[in-house]
Amino acid sequence: MVETVKQKSNETNRPVIVWFRQDLRTDDHPALHAASQGGRVVIPVFIWDQMGEGSWLVGAASKWWLHSSLAALGKTLSTLGSPLILRQGTAEKVLVEIAKSTGAGGVHCSMRYEPSAKSQEVRVRKELLASGLSFEAHPGTLLHDPAVIRTGSGMPYKVYTPFAKAYRNTMSSESPLSPPKFLKAPEEKIHSASLDELKLLPAIDWAKTMREWWQPGEAGARKRLSKFTIQSAKAYGENRDFPAEDGSSRLSAHLHWGEISPRRIWNEVSKSPAAASVGAQKYLAEILWRDFAYHVMSNFPRTAESPLRPEFERFPWEPSAEKLKAWKQGKTGYPIVDAGMRQLWATGWMHNRVRMIVASFLVKHLLQDWHHGAKWFWETLVDADLSSNSLGWQWSAGCGADAAPYFRIFNPILQGEKFDSQGTYVREWIPELAHLPSEFIHQPWNAPPLVLLQSGVELGGNYPAPIVDHVTARNRALAALSFFGKQ
Ligand SMILES: Cc1cc2nc3c(=O)[nH]c(=O)nc-3n(C[C@H](O)[C@H](O)[C@H](O)COP(=O)(O)OP(=O)(O)OC[C@H]3O[C@@H](n4cnc5c(N)ncnc54)[C@H](O)[C@@H]3O)c2cc1C
Repeated sequence: MVETVKQKSNETNRPVIVWFRQDLRTDDHPALHAASQGGRVVIPVFIWDQMGEGSWLVGAASKWWLHSSLAALGKTLSTLGSPLILRQGTAEKVLVEIAKSTGAGGVHCSMRYEPSAKSQEVRVRKELLASGLSFEAHPGTLLHDPAVIRTGSGMPYKVYTPFAKAYRNTMSSESPLSPPKFLKAPEEKIHSASLDELKLLPAIDWAKTMREWWQPGEAGARKRLSKFTIQSAKAYGENRDFPAEDGSSRLSAHLHWGEISPRRIWNEVSKSPAAASVGAQKYLAEILWRDFAYHVMSNFPRTAESPLRPEFERFPWEPSAEKLKAWKQGKTGYPIVDAGMRQLWATGWMHNRVRMIVASFLVKHLLQDWHHGAKWFWETLVDADLSSNSLGWQWSAGCGADAAPYFRIFNPILQGEKFDSQGTYVREWIPELAHLPSEFIHQPWNAPPLVLLQSGVELGGNYPAPIVDHVTARNRALAALSFFGKQ
């Protein structure tokens, strides 16, 4: 009996590792909170394990973000007392090695839900337990466990509205956890790779505008959240669809990297002066879309690769390297599409309304397979997130959860005129069109030659002529749709 108590107290006195993954924060971090209880030595570790990501290796813009996010987390942890240890390699091997060299008794981490991350977690658990170490994965990435919620017939949800209703009813009302005040560091120095050794930054520096736009890290996330709750939450419902407005929170990349918890966002928005407004409630509903995306990914693990509606596997795409390239480069001749693609390239982010327009354009006007679009977003978005990106692309293609019907084809001219009526957004991202009168800004090909001349626009010269005619492309997409009637 005495021996068991002694053993237990030895166990609780041993250092503990906190394995940081996509949870690069100290606030409301259940794994860090659990590890730091009882004054134990805490060893914070981040492992750059590309193999653990399966076939979805972290994209270029995300890697840029991750570099700065790790720098910010490293500073915060050093200030708290225990510096972040960086390593490269297979997570399970590195964790066992660090535990052995430091005498740590176990590992705490936050859960992830992508299929490759889940498999990684299984391997880590197995390896740690086999080495006599403990392992605990904590919630914190989402508002609620995405796997447990089920329809009345015991099936996962495929439609957002009933999902959100059921989810809200089961969500816990627990408050966010405060960050630890102090972390006890090991006495002996532990080897850490330098941040530069991880080679996350691009060889050629294309990130100037991204640096101007973003402040990766926990402090940047909190700043954005408080700016949003004070300035934009109330009018979110009215402004969120207008890409020239700073009407949304722009928290997606911070959320993806776990620099802020969804619970912290929920809590702050719910207690802000705007809380009861339609805008704030709409915003909370959007935060639930993120959990919905994870619910879909959790229950349909092949959602990044395969359409949820299997008949789409045989869709008659018309592959064209040329059209795909024009879309990626923002040279389709449709100003709202091109502005979005150029905003994406310059900033690593694109407004949600414009994401829907460009995705629809690629899939329906150009008949290019949605996977190509998803891959390009994956490389170029700072918020690239396997669950949300797959949901967004499958939704746009009409083949996924809660998808828009395939025959609803966004008209890029009308969308531009409705959501960017003065062309402010288009002018910002396509300076070649800056002097075009607003009536032609979304259809420069209809401007009289003299107007084009006076505006400095040369169609097919400094700005492309449309690569497809809208009406012809729409009819072609509808004809392709008739393929489904023949199934
Ligand atoms: C084709 C396509 C691809 C997309 N790819 C991604 C992606 O890789 N990563 C990503 O985070 N979002 C993605 N989205 C969803 C959405 O466009 C972004 O979350 C949003 O534009 C981010 O800006 P924000 O933070 O200002 O959003 P806000 O309007 O302020 O919303 C707050 C948060 O709610 C969540 N959210 C809002 N809308 C959605 C949605 N439709 N699906 C899932 N979560 C949502 C995000 O976490 C967002 O940060 C995609 C949408 C489409 C149509």
